[in-house]
Amino acid sequence: MSETEESKTAQILVRISEEERDEWKAAAEVLGTSMSDLIRNSVAPIVQETLHCIHPEEFRLVYPWSEFCKKCDTRLR
Ligand SMILES: [Zn+2]
Repeated sequence: MSETEESKTAQILVRISEEERDEWKAAAEVLGTSMSDLIRNSVAPIVQETLHCIHPEEFRLVYPWSEFCKKCDTRLR
């Protein structure tokens, strides 16, 4: 197990139908990845976009004491 894998100790249980599980598994196989990675990589960008500012620097409003994103009004520092 790699070092990054070792830090991934939390588990979640997602209840889906047998058919969905078979399809998810088949899709992961086609993509040459594990079901865990398929789920992780699909959810991660949505979480990032929901909780953190993902807008480029052109939307930044930079002051010496703080930094804001004009697009989503998030204080970045
Ligand atoms: Zn933003």
